[in-house]
Amino acid sequence: MAELEKYQMYIGGEWTDPASGEWFESFNPFTGKPWALFARGNAEDAGRAVAAAKKALNSPEWGGLTATARGHLLRRLGDLITENADRLAEIEVKDNGKLIAEMGMQLKYVPEWYYYFAGLADKIEGSVLPIDKPDHFAYTVHEPLGVVVAIVPWNSPLLLTAWKLAPALAAGNTVVLKPSEFTSASALEFVKLVEEAGFPKGVVNVVTGFGAEAGEPLVIHDDVAKIAFTGGVQSGTHVYEKAAAGLKKVSLELGGKSPNIVFDDADLDNAVKGAISGIFAATGQTCIAGSRLLVQDKIHDEFVDKLVTFAKTAEMGDPMSLDTQIGPVTTMPQYEKILGYLDVAKNEGAECVLGGGKAERPECGDGWFVEPTIFTGVRNDMRIAQEEVFGPVLSVIPFKDDDEAVEIANDVVYGLAAGVWTSSINRAIEIPKRLQAGTVWVNTYRAVSYMAPFGGYKRSGLGRESGQQAIKEYMQTKTIWVSTASEVPNPFVMR
Ligand code: NAD
Repeated sequence: MAELEKYQMYIGGEWTDPASGEWFESFNPFTGKPWALFARGNAEDAGRAVAAAKKALNSPEWGGLTATARGHLLRRLGDLITENADRLAEIEVKDNGKLIAEMGMQLKYVPEWYYYFAGLADKIEGSVLPIDKPDHFAYTVHEPLGVVVAIVPWNSPLLLTAWKLAPALAAGNTVVLKPSEFTSASALEFVKLVEEAGFPKGVVNVVTGFGAEAGEPLVIHDDVAKIAFTGGVQSGTHVYEKAAAGLKKVSLELGGKSPNIVFDDADLDNAVKGAISGIFAATGQTCIAGSRLLVQDKIHDEFVDKLVTFAKTAEMGDPMSLDTQIGPVTTMPQYEKILGYLDVAKNEGAECVLGGGKAERPECGDGWFVEPTIFTGVRNDMRIAQEEVFGPVLSVIPFKDDDEAVEIANDVVYGLAAGVWTSSINRAIEIPKRLQAGTVWVNTYRAVSYMAPFGGYKRSGLGRESGQQAIKEYMQTKTIWVSTASEVPNPFVMR
């Protein structure tokens, strides 16, 4: 067997072995075989990383930089990502099973987050208050929070890292990044570019390892000011509880069970593509998956026929091939979880009209592949309609009219995203207003941008990433009072 690539952690500008002396394997989901070793971080490593980030925070090399200079560093980082896009894409395909076609697109776009927040860095202005006390001058400044812990899941590591690091660094914080234990390679390759861009030592640190062993010590560390977390609801809730003990700021980007609603006046061919992109793109492993397809009863059968016909053409196989449209599931536990949900749906009485099991096509080799699956006859109270599967599994739910569509759409604990397919201008405007979701797409799906705030309603999360407001999630406001009086008046009364 070829020797496994060994990835150290990156702390305080140095490549370092884990305190535990232990390493764990990372698997290539297309071959089902290990290809790399990651350092098994623990509380000691977390402590060293936070200390390095704290030291860098107020150093002249970082804390002493102007916001404009921070912007220059971020721009350089964006350029380096572009220059290294092919290499980063190939590593992500190997570690994660993401399609090379998708990674090619994603890495063209990821630098935009760094450019956008580079531009914003020196546009965050305080204000002079028209204060009501004539012998005082008062103004506000927006300051960084301090050490930020960025915790990232496995499904889109470099994109979701950018969503956190770009605003956090633009605001002047320092960061400890904790990538997923399943897909840490790209974070460690990325941080080489952070160093090359000229960020001072300790400004960005990477601690690898498991959530409970490496992530949690970061979350509870006294010197951490904020946790920016993306992941599942269960671990997100746990992180929120732990962070509460230290009154830390927390942003959470969690899961979804997003409704993709097709009205009978929609352009059905476009809506089919929207439904496909909602659930089979990225092998359904996306928080914004349109996993509940609500179809108006009049067009239900015709729409399902078109959908099944289209889905049958999807090419599965080697994620390195540009022709592949559906790749493997990223992790073995996730593969087993998805297969388990196929049984849940069948036992609940849903009708499987496509797929429904492991993909045993020759082009899938030994990889962890699930056939694109469509269930009809799903009721919204079934587990398959309420729980996040995070795989290529679609539940089709019929509805009668607008009110029923909205009621079903909102009848779930999540509120991350929703899709609406209609040719009616009234519906295009009225239905999004009634949907409980942080993002609503009309006649499109799965569009994101560095300038578009993204985040969840209800249990899909707290806070927003991207867009101008995101930088404020990494800042705190200070009010400064200066007396212009020559004498301090009566000290026993409030000024
Ligand atoms: P996960 O919650 O298992 O893990 C996410 C990260 O949290 C990993 O780095 C993990 O090591 C860490 N972690 C786990 N327990 C921890 C703890 N106790 N303390 C500190 N860190 C801990 O999620 P996952 O399986 O990697 O990712 C899939 C989930 O992420 C899905 O639910 C998906 O919907 C969600 N997700 C959400 C968004 C979004 O923006 N809303 C984007 C992508 C993925």
